[in-house]
Amino acid sequence: MTGFRVTYATLSADDDELQAAYTAASAEVAAGLGALHPLWIGDEDRLGPTFSTHSPIDTDVTIGEFTIADGDDVDDTIVCARSAQPGWAAMPWQERCEILDRAADLISERSISDGAALAWENGKTRLEAIGEVEETADLIRYYTHAMREHDGFDLPMERFHDLEVTSDVLRPYGVWAVIGPFNYPNALIGGPAGAALVAGNAVIAKPSEVGSLSGHLVCRAFADAGVPRGVLNILTGGGEVGAALVNHPGVDGVTFTGSSRVGMGILSSFSLAHPKPAICEMGGKNPVVVSASADLDLAVEGTARSAFGFGGQKCSAASRVFVDASVADEFVAKLVARAESIARVSPLEPGGFLSPVVDARAIERFADVVADVERDGEVLTGGRRITDGQLGRGYFVEPTVVRAPDDSPVWTTELFLPLVAVRPVESLDEAIDRANAVPYGLTAGLFAEDDADVDLFFDRIEAGVVYVNRSAGATTGAWPGVQPFGGWKRSGTAGKLGGGPYYLQQYLREQSRTHVRRA
Ligand code: NAD
Repeated sequence: MTGFRVTYATLSADDDELQAAYTAASAEVAAGLGALHPLWIGDEDRLGPTFSTHSPIDTDVTIGEFTIADGDDVDDTIVCARSAQPGWAAMPWQERCEILDRAADLISERSISDGAALAWENGKTRLEAIGEVEETADLIRYYTHAMREHDGFDLPMERFHDLEVTSDVLRPYGVWAVIGPFNYPNALIGGPAGAALVAGNAVIAKPSEVGSLSGHLVCRAFADAGVPRGVLNILTGGGEVGAALVNHPGVDGVTFTGSSRVGMGILSSFSLAHPKPAICEMGGKNPVVVSASADLDLAVEGTARSAFGFGGQKCSAASRVFVDASVADEFVAKLVARAESIARVSPLEPGGFLSPVVDARAIERFADVVADVERDGEVLTGGRRITDGQLGRGYFVEPTVVRAPDDSPVWTTELFLPLVAVRPVESLDEAIDRANAVPYGLTAGLFAEDDADVDLFFDRIEAGVVYVNRSAGATTGAWPGVQPFGGWKRSGTAGKLGGGPYYLQQYLREQSRTHVRRA
């Protein structure tokens, strides 16, 4: 391989070697799909009743059979994790970091084959799929870097006299549950699990049903790198398995990434007996603001990539555009043309950009939203399911641009569809007011050439991750160590961002240790 490195800012990969390797890996992955996957409960591979998942690219393709964890499995896993964790925490942090760096390197080495598996599983394009696996590796590397940068978080403190010695240390909590979403099943199991493990916690991974294969693959890399079974466990199944973990007194911390509805429930139920950390990364309703001074071609490209990439199913996807009235007609015409230019090519193919939506419920949601808009507003382009050709085998819908009245749910509900609403505004202030007028605050983008517009936007916008003039994605595409990622308001509980300088500390609790020595 030529060393071509894929990130979310990689817009095209004309590297023939990379494409050929992906084509071969995708065929090999396809040949192995449908396998049976056990739970990992300590050293035991445990089987039981199963569920199966199917590819949204071609619903005839079975991704795998996954074991459904029941209450006894949850209890047994927690016993295993609790007994394995003290040994892991006692290991010098430098050794834990070496094991996790090795895991990151294995994940990178496997980025093409695990990316191909991810693409079959949730419908990502080649670049998005390889990029996600590489993101997992870089998240883990960022957390080992943070541990080293802080020298294991053990600080000498001031003292009142020579014989009284105080140190301030950060120590792990114990057993950490990592509950992942369908749309980033590799990075959002592997990244939080990596942080929890670096910190010395044991991990119970609970991937989304739709992300169960990717969850297994990323855990396989941790295990192959030397993370002991028991320190790392996998439970598959639906929301009831996540709920059983969250409600179990033996779980000391949880990282949940998923919808705000579930995340807010976890937040209110996790700490009933005593306070425990719950890092909940949740939904978004991300705005793009196009000012009168914007470069419109840049704005159209960034909006299209952000709204239509991965079928609008990134938590960071743009779904609302507020455009200065003086340039609104021109912007809308260009955005409609750009949406219509997107080739109807499978995401499995080298040039594919279009991804399917995840399941039949998303198809129904799309039909319902389009029907509402047709009644109260206007569908400017798109609006239909794609039923012909190769894409007809999966859950593909047309990239869609709409106008909708201000009271339409299109402006406030996270839809997770390739559908973006556009509205003219009279000023940048009005655009920012409207952008902020939702309970969410995950990402936001501005297109403006005037620095005063940029300053106003940075000053007033309520979101955790904000971009100006980003054609690679107006609101999407954060990378560990480059753009820390997380939400404000109903989009995230932590106020500290993944892949950023304050993230790892959340998996550790502080202890002040004073030892008064004898003279
Ligand atoms: P979801 O909330 O339906 O499910 C997420 C996970 O929670 C799954 O593993 C599911 O099985 C589990 N779960 C469901 N009910 C549960 C319960 N009561 N208790 C514990 N666990 C439970 O989300 P999804 O549809 O898989 O993912 C899409 C959502 O995730 C979107 O809202 C998206 O914005 C959000 N998301 C946010 C970020 C972020 O960083 N902020 C990143 C990716 C996705």
